[in-house]
Amino acid sequence: MKTAVFSTRSYDECFLKAANAKLGHELHFFEPRLTERTCRLAEGFPAVCVFVNDQLDRPVLEKLAAGGTRLVALRCAGFNNVDLRAAQQLGFTVARVPAYSPHAVAEHTVGLVLALVRRLHKAYNRVREGNFHLEGLLGFDLYKKTVGVVGTGKIGALVARAFLAGFGCRVLCQDVRPNPELVQLGAEYVPLETLWAASDIITLHCPLLPETHHLINEDTLRLMKDGVVLVNTSRGALINTRAVIRALKSGKIGALALDVYEEEADLFFEDLSNRVIQDDVFARMLTFPNVLITGHQAFFTQEALEAIAAETLENISAFEQGRRPPGLIEVEKVLGG
Ligand code: NAD
Repeated sequence: MKTAVFSTRSYDECFLKAANAKLGHELHFFEPRLTERTCRLAEGFPAVCVFVNDQLDRPVLEKLAAGGTRLVALRCAGFNNVDLRAAQQLGFTVARVPAYSPHAVAEHTVGLVLALVRRLHKAYNRVREGNFHLEGLLGFDLYKKTVGVVGTGKIGALVARAFLAGFGCRVLCQDVRPNPELVQLGAEYVPLETLWAASDIITLHCPLLPETHHLINEDTLRLMKDGVVLVNTSRGALINTRAVIRALKSGKIGALALDVYEEEADLFFEDLSNRVIQDDVFARMLTFPNVLITGHQAFFTQEALEAIAAETLENISAFEQGRRPPGLIEVEKVLGG
């Protein structure tokens, strides 16, 4: 099927081409992000293939529909960037890759926690400069610490297991649908207020929804332990970044790791190393010694990219052949009604 692939990087092209070798879809690779300005590139393409920061709001979807596009194939799990109501009204089929490698994201999350609590990001630079002082690098054991996991779906459950079985932590969880297997392993589901108050480390794995937008804010931060370690590898807007900056300045947050940022669309996946960063909030975040940021790379493993490519193309094949795409997003179920 003729498909316009937006936000293409060399690795997308490489993995999609390999997975497409026997399928024969007509893939056209475009580097720009899908926005109102770039959506004309998709004119005449029945399918678009998009990623996390492509913009699929009503105006873009209307233009895509007018140009003949009928399928939106997301090559990611999250779909908060798609106006599902508009997509449904315009007759789009929207499909995603719900579980390409939850291990990739879970392992990156654990890596971020270890780096933060043992100051590995600082140690790396120090040793390279010939500075072998240990002052400022004092960490703490994870053993017997309390880890709060918000959202225990595919990724959150793996993170909870790692902290329970791998490090001997107490794990407190919160989810609208508790997972009995985690309870058997020793995790406890508690109200959010309890999780905020009792956790030494808090890691976010719930989706970005209207009810989870700015879940971490001035009020919830106030409930947390002084010096709490906060990690977000889910979606940027789960965190009110300005509130978090104030909490870093006051010491309420002891360390912060982010793989996602609420305004990441203008920054991430680009090489801006020769430019001045215009986002003052993000630039402030970079000044803290106890903040570690990765640019939405938690998913970025060989296994995950192979699975993403295979499952994205399977969604496209199924749509083309009149079958139900395995990653179909059922809009009624997600939005209700
Ligand atoms: P999932 O759907 O398997 O799990 C999400 C869990 O959150 C579910 O168990 C759901 O019941 C729960 N949930 C929903 N609303 C909630 C609420 N209000 N409070 C608490 N829990 C709630 O999803 P997943 O595959 O585990 O992905 C989790 C998140 O990670 C998604 O937001 C996804 O976009 C993000 N993600 C990030 C990357 C990355 O590279 N950084 C890669 C993949 C996924």
